[in-house]
Amino acid sequence: MLIRASDAKSWEHCVRRAWFDNNPPMGYESIKPNEFDQLILDLGIQHEQKVKHRLEEQYQLIEAKSEEHTQDLMSQGTQVIYQGLFIKDDIIGKPDFLIRHESGSYQAADAKLAHSDDKKEIQIQLGIYRRLLQNNIPAIVFLGTGEIAEIGDEANKDVDKYLASMREILAQSTPPPVRYSESKCTACNYFEVCKPKFVTKGELTLLYGIESRSAPGLEAQGIANIKMLAETDPAKIIDVPYLKGPEAKQRATLQAKAYLNDEFYQLKPVQLPTGTWVHFDIEDNPLTSSGRKHVYLWGLLKPPYDKDNFEYIWTDNESQDRDGWEAFLAKVENYRHQFPDLLLAHFSNHERTTIKTYEERYEMQDNPTVAWLLGANSPLYDIQVPVKDCLVLPLAGYGLKYVCKHPKLVNFQWKDSDSGSQWSVVQYANYLMSATPSDREKLKRDILTYNFDDVMATRMLELWLRSSVIEHV
Ligand code: SF4
Repeated sequence: MLIRASDAKSWEHCVRRAWFDNNPPMGYESIKPNEFDQLILDLGIQHEQKVKHRLEEQYQLIEAKSEEHTQDLMSQGTQVIYQGLFIKDDIIGKPDFLIRHESGSYQAADAKLAHSDDKKEIQIQLGIYRRLLQNNIPAIVFLGTGEIAEIGDEANKDVDKYLASMREILAQSTPPPVRYSESKCTACNYFEVCKPKFVTKGELTLLYGIESRSAPGLEAQGIANIKMLAETDPAKIIDVPYLKGPEAKQRATLQAKAYLNDEFYQLKPVQLPTGTWVHFDIEDNPLTSSGRKHVYLWGLLKPPYDKDNFEYIWTDNESQDRDGWEAFLAKVENYRHQFPDLLLAHFSNHERTTIKTYEERYEMQDNPTVAWLLGANSPLYDIQVPVKDCLVLPLAGYGLKYVCKHPKLVNFQWKDSDSGSQWSVVQYANYLMSATPSDREKLKRDILTYNFDDVMATRMLELWLRSSVIEHV
């Protein structure tokens, strides 16, 4: 079985995924990417084509049709070979470009949408091309930012590790054993194949807070599954990596109970700050040509928290980035004037870190509104903090949608059940690409509905915490 350089991405994600890519389960022989992955693929192809056109303007560029044709083109001294193919021993690689170096040898190059070359999968892929070319010339990455990075011998260690691991897993007739990971598995095409088996086994890492590095230590103590963890006295659990101290162990056992009973547990009273709450959520586009995240929507929900009191700042493209930011600051000042006890409630640290990014981007450290937002008396309030600190929920993750959608918790449902952060990135990309005013209007409306639901969800979470949780203290 051949080891493909391009499998490094799957391998880096999960070794079992790399195994499945080479041994597809029934029905998975050809997988259609989801909308977000398709967008990334399309943008990647566009970027590759741009690089190709640039090279074509300067050099003779010929597309290779096969491995033999690649060798022929190299012997003829073709300046740039597009999509050359190499097979050596059990390794196969297809660099986007082979560029004739001044030494007469060839230099492998790939176009990558990434903004830096420090991703392991890029290092491995380009490192393998160098190995196939058998020369010491650094490989080139044409990054999504327009910059050009070089990959040299520093990638060799990861290439060796990748090849050894792939040889080992591809020699096996069954999928390699791995741990469940909520973030990785929910983003994987083989989720439906793997998840039921983890559930049947009672895999410990299905639990929020139990890392793959903690599970072996628990298993070594005889705690082999979720049920056993739920029945264990936390005081009797010996410290294991990433699960140390009485509080963490109590949480772990309660998390196991919550998983089995579909109930939540309260560790301590929830104390919410007083003031006039304005709920706040942003939508951003990470796929900009500059590489800088562009917040295209700053959404706010003020009292009395209905559709008419949803206010937002929208920008049509990245060139209006600063206008959007300044309009947001003006809106904050307006609220501050209107509500002297203003509190801007958001879920997770994302809004605060984004404001910090914008402060630095536009060098606005001396701006009084920015200083207030980020200072000691900041009106920003992260409502995820009391949720994580005070509650143990029957959930695999403590993100807004997990917490709010659960019928026994907040039970708030988004109008579009498919919507989410990746969904909104796709809708905004379609908005940017669409030339039809009615289509653009609809896409904008859909995104605004989603953002309204996000701020409404944090409002409903606030109400749920006040009514269901604090009363139970
Ligand atoms: S679902 Fe999870 S365990 Fe299965 S292949 Fe994907 S990442 Fe790996």
